[in-house]
Amino acid sequence: MASENTPVTLEKIVSLCKRRGFVYQTAEIYSGLNGVYDFGPLGAQLKINIKNSWLKDMNSQPEEILLIDGSILGPFDEWKASGHVDSFADPMVDCQNCKRRFRADDPDIDLNKTCPVCRVKNWTDVRQFKLMFETQVGAVAGQSSIAFLRPETAQSIFINFKNVVTSNRVKVPFGISQIGKAFRNEITPKQFLFRLREFEQMELEFFCKEENSREFFEKWLERRNNFYLNLGINPKNIRFREHEKDELAHYSKYCTDIEYNFPFGWKELEGIAYRTNYDLSQHIKHSGKDLSIFDPQTNESFVPHVIECSVGVDRTFLTILFDAYYEDEIEGEKRICLKLNPKVAPVKAAILPLVKKLNEPAIKIYQELKKSGFVIQFDESGSIGKRYRRQDEIGTPVCFTFDFDSLQDQKVTARNRDTLEQNRISIDQIKNYLNDLLK
Ligand code: ATP
Repeated sequence: MASENTPVTLEKIVSLCKRRGFVYQTAEIYSGLNGVYDFGPLGAQLKINIKNSWLKDMNSQPEEILLIDGSILGPFDEWKASGHVDSFADPMVDCQNCKRRFRADDPDIDLNKTCPVCRVKNWTDVRQFKLMFETQVGAVAGQSSIAFLRPETAQSIFINFKNVVTSNRVKVPFGISQIGKAFRNEITPKQFLFRLREFEQMELEFFCKEENSREFFEKWLERRNNFYLNLGINPKNIRFREHEKDELAHYSKYCTDIEYNFPFGWKELEGIAYRTNYDLSQHIKHSGKDLSIFDPQTNESFVPHVIECSVGVDRTFLTILFDAYYEDEIEGEKRICLKLNPKVAPVKAAILPLVKKLNEPAIKIYQELKKSGFVIQFDESGSIGKRYRRQDEIGTPVCFTFDFDSLQDQKVTARNRDTLEQNRISIDQIKNYLNDLLK
């Protein structure tokens, strides 16, 4: 967790991500593409660890939660039925002087005042800007060939609802979860990974009877809050914010955001929404298919209600980095450290031979751990202090140093990233040590 007196800024995180290969600007050699990023080796690993933690958390819940993997492209009819074709838009305004474009509902924009960039007051009218990326499927143009890149993963779940129910014999309450890419042509992508045009979502649609919807909504608020606390996020940086009636999405009856205290303010990390049975009902209406399920207790069919938990992988990634970033001084030298939960840390341990002469036995340990599936690094270059700092900066929880004594006693020094404590442990205990760390 970031120390109270560590001023973590967006600039520091962006610079660390680039320096250590967590995140790269997409097509950087062609000057990039706004709102789109690539993930380098450490970033890709951190992302996978975040997704695995989310999946594990879903699987650990008492009710059954089934994972699906839907397509990114969807037909016009799907998105017409969901309401996105008609109402998935943000209000947009242009400054006619400097030609900058803004979201009219951006808290930094006041249309009674001047443009925040050029300080001239010359606004266009506010227009609705459609956020979905539209494309054409096949060779023949026309309405039947229009497709959209999905702006949320949720609809794949709703349109597959009947398939999942009939092929899995599940009963409400149960959930369908999904992790996958979503695309929104955001008017102003900003704050690095916070608002992207291409991003990934982790979504759960939890199906229940209408009369149980409030109870499950409350349960999911608590469960999702616990998820962040278990990841080690500082509870002081997390809060709930209930949506006002006028900010609710067209499908939602009530909604609470889990917000994180970013350096640029409290912002939504995850949305937890009661979507009623709006989506399934819309798809019943538009497709003409029966998406209700039979309740053997009442001998009646019904369309279940839905609690949705929706969070971005990239926004979680950014949150975790902000929360873990820490600066201190060790023996007069500045240290940048990511105090990541070992479960999400991209590299679990580093093997460091004290001097190059000891490489051979140290490499043996490294290869043995790799064979067991641990993501681990071997680093032989520079002073031991420098090597520790290189690992601290990417959040590696522990370094094992192989020294001359190791040849005799078959032990290595385990150095803890957070406490800086050093203990001698047997080489044959390293795997257990790491497994304990990852529990
Ligand atoms: P916002 O108000 O920030 O535009 P939203 O309310 O439209 O977000 P949802 O549709 O509720 O967002 O999306 C669910 C989650 O998906 C968000 O909480 C966020 O974590 C993630 N998400 C949404 N839009 C983006 C984006 N453009 N870039 C990165 N993550 C996003």
